[in-house]
Amino acid sequence: MPAPLKLVDTTPELPDAADAVVIGGGIVGVFAAYYLARRGLKVALVEKGRIGAEQSSRNWGWCRQQNRDARELPMATKSLDLWERFAAESGEDTGFRRCGLLYLSDSEEELAGWARWRDFARTVGVTTHMLDSAQATERGRATGKPWRGGVFSPTDGTADPASAAPAVARAILKLGGTVHQSCAARGIETEGGSLSGVVTEHGTIRTKTAILAGGAWASSFCRQLGIRFPQAAIRSSILAVSPGAIGLPDALHTAAVSVTRRADGGYTLAISGRGRVDPTPQQLRFSPQFLPMFVKRWRSLAPGGLEGFRSGHETLALWRLDEPTPMERMRILDPAVDKATIHLTHSRALDLLPALKDTSIAAAWAGYIDSTPDGVPGIGEIAAIPGFILAAGFSGHGFGIGPGAGHLIADIVTGSEPIVDPHPYHPDRFRKSAWGKVADF
Ligand SMILES: Cc1cc2nc3c(=O)[nH]c(=O)nc-3n(C[C@H](O)[C@H](O)[C@H](O)COP(=O)(O)OP(=O)(O)OC[C@H]3O[C@@H](n4cnc5c(N)ncnc54)[C@H](O)[C@@H]3O)c2cc1C
Repeated sequence: MPAPLKLVDTTPELPDAADAVVIGGGIVGVFAAYYLARRGLKVALVEKGRIGAEQSSRNWGWCRQQNRDARELPMATKSLDLWERFAAESGEDTGFRRCGLLYLSDSEEELAGWARWRDFARTVGVTTHMLDSAQATERGRATGKPWRGGVFSPTDGTADPASAAPAVARAILKLGGTVHQSCAARGIETEGGSLSGVVTEHGTIRTKTAILAGGAWASSFCRQLGIRFPQAAIRSSILAVSPGAIGLPDALHTAAVSVTRRADGGYTLAISGRGRVDPTPQQLRFSPQFLPMFVKRWRSLAPGGLEGFRSGHETLALWRLDEPTPMERMRILDPAVDKATIHLTHSRALDLLPALKDTSIAAAWAGYIDSTPDGVPGIGEIAAIPGFILAAGFSGHGFGIGPGAGHLIADIVTGSEPIVDPHPYHPDRFRKSAWGKVADF
C-alpha cells in the first residue's frame, strides 16, 4: 500500500494570466501559493500529478528545530509558529502539534554532539533539554531498557503528511487561487529576457513570476532553461503500522530506528539517514559536487538499481514544449520499496518497542529525497531570468520548514521584509566550490 494522502479538488479551467504561477504542489509550492494568495495576488498552482503525492506525503512528519544546521534554524523556528498560525488563519487542519521530539542514545559521542547543539541553540533562543540517564530512561520507558542519555525538544512537533499539503491547497482555493492537478509545466516563455509565461500541457499562463517548487524534478527543468542546479536524489524506504500500540512517545529517534505517531493512531517507522543511491545521468554529472556529502554519509547509503533511470526525473534530455515531457510520463514519482530496509526497520522497531507487537504493517513506501551538495535548499530568484524563482533541494528536511520557505518566497516576490535572512539559501552559492559546509542533520 502506498503512503496515505487526502484528495483535493482541481480547478477545471486554466487561467490565461496570473500574477504568479507556482510549479509543483508539494509542501513548499502550496505554502508559497498560499502566502501569495493571502497578499491578494492572483495565483495559479500547477501540479503534474496530485497535490502532495511525492516527498510531501512520504515523510515522517517531523517539524523540528532540534539538530538543525545553523543556516536553517531561523526558518525552522519561524515555521513552527506558521504551522500553528495556519490552522487559525485558514480553518484547515494539517495535523500539526507541538508534541516535542525525543532523542535517546547510549553513545557518549552522540550525546556530546547533541549537547554542543543545545549550547549553540541557546545562543539563538531555542530551548532544548539534555536528559541524564535517569530522565532518558524515564522518558523512554516504553523501550523497557535503561539509556545513557537523551534530549527532548519541547517546542518541536509533527504534522500529518497525509493531510498537510492538501489542507494548504484547500486554503489556496478559499482565497481565490486556482489549483490544477494532472497539469505539468513544460517550460517558460520570456520577453526581453524576463519571464512572461509558463507553458503547461494544457496551455500557457501569462505571468511575470514563476516559482519552481518541483522537488526532485527541479534540476532537469532548470536544465531546459540553461540553469545549472546541482541536485541528486536518494531513495528512502519507510513503513507505517496500524493503531494499537499503547504508551509510545509521539516522536522518538534512536540510532537503530525512529518512530512517529500518525494522525490515525498508527506509527511511521524508519531508519534515519538510510537510503539507496540509484545512479542517473544527472548524478554522474554532479558527482564532483556531491562527493563531500557522500563522504560524510557513506555509512548509511547503499548502491541502488536502475530505478532512477526509469523514473526520468534526473534525465539530461532536452524536451520540446509542444509534446509530452518526462513529467507527463511519470505523474507521481513512486519508486520501488527496498524490502530489506523495510524488514530491518520493522524488526528493529519491534525489538526497541515491545508494544508494537500489537500492530501490523499497514503500508510501506519509498520516496526520492532531493538534495543539494551542502544539504541546504536553493531558494531565490535566478538573475539570468528575472521573475523566475527556484525553491528546491530541501535535502530531507523540507516538510517542517515548508511554511517558512513558502513565506520567504512570497516575501521575495512581493519585495517585502523577508521573514528570515534569504542569503544562506540563494542558489548562486552552487556556482562556487563544492567543498563548503555540508549541513549537519
Ligand atoms: C522518507 C522521507 C522522510 C522524510 N522525513 C522528513 C521529516 O520528518 N521532516 C522534514 O522536514 N522533511 C522530511 N522529509 C523531506 C521532505 O518530505 C521534503 O524535503 C519536502 O516534502 C520537499 O517538499 P517539496 O515541495 O520541495 O517537494 P515535493 O513534495 O517532492 O513536491 C514537488 C512537487 O512538484 C511536482 N512537479 C515537479 N515538476 C513539475 C512540473 N514541471 N510541473 C508540475 N508539477 C511538477 C511534483 O509532482 C511534486 O508533487 C522526508 C522525505 C522522505 C522521502
